[in-house]
Amino acid sequence: MDKIIRQAVEDLAKSKKAIALTGAGISVESNIPPFRGKGGIWEKFDPMEYAHIDAFLKDPVKVWNALLKDMKEIIDNARPNDGHLGLARLEQMGILKTVITQNVDGLHQMAGNTDVIEFHGNFAWHYCMECNNRIKTKDVDLSDIPPRCACGGIYRPECVFFGEMIPPLNLMRSRQVSSTCDLMLVIGTSAIVQPAALMPIIAKQSGAKVIEINPEQTPLTGSVSDYIITSKAGEAINRIMAELQTLL
Ligand code: NAD
Ligand code: ZN
Repeated sequence: MDKIIRQAVEDLAKSKKAIALTGAGISVESNIPPFRGKGGIWEKFDPMEYAHIDAFLKDPVKVWNALLKDMKEIIDNARPNDGHLGLARLEQMGILKTVITQNVDGLHQMAGNTDVIEFHGNFAWHYCMECNNRIKTKDVDLSDIPPRCACGGIYRPECVFFGEMIPPLNLMRSRQVSSTCDLMLVIGTSAIVQPAALMPIIAKQSGAKVIEINPEQTPLTGSVSDYIITSKAGEAINRIMAELQTLL
């Protein structure tokens, strides 16, 4: 493992345009459960029953009670971990240019990254489904479920439900930075949810190196990834940062 990290960091130090693609796994050490894998939310829920837009439109009370209430509580209290902080440091060092994240928790921005593409939208804001009035998630009043706007409309988060389109500009920019980067860090993503999972393939086909950080195997492991660091995001990033110091 030491040798793999050393080689990966040598490529990272040489790169001129590194980017990162992150998934729920990078926020696990901030106590936000992932969807898939050990302790994942989908061990308890069927995604199509709770996280599909049709399910929300059919029964917003059920989805608010089972999923969104807890998500608000967890995300309201979450703080960046060493994984997020390391990526912010890599940006300050001029190495990392952009973070594409599938997460909706806002922790990359809180850590200090300034160019974050939120592929699946964000959970920092909600909007009224009747009049489009926007409200910060921390100001959404949960004393009545579902929470409602003054006009009577139901609030929903600005994140993308299954069955909804990826915000077109986010998709376009993600494809663009993926096809022009020379190195991609792929951290804590099961690489199953499309079209986000295509980004490492686009990067690889465009000649970039791919460094994957995940304690478990994914469809990218052994095919798309040049280096696989099989440990938790925070630990792996700390080791990468320490190794980087010895090279600069
Ligand atoms: P996922 O839940 O499908 O998979 C998580 C991956 O992280 C798994 O491959 C797992 O092995 C890995 N992992 C677990 N612990 C880890 C750790 N400590 N360090 C590194 N990796 C770890 O996540 P996904 O691929 O991002 O995709 C699914 C969707 O889930 C995304 O659309 C995202 O919007 C949504 N989601 C977001 C959050 C969040 O905002 N924090 C949380 C849960 C789900
Ligand atoms: Zn309204």
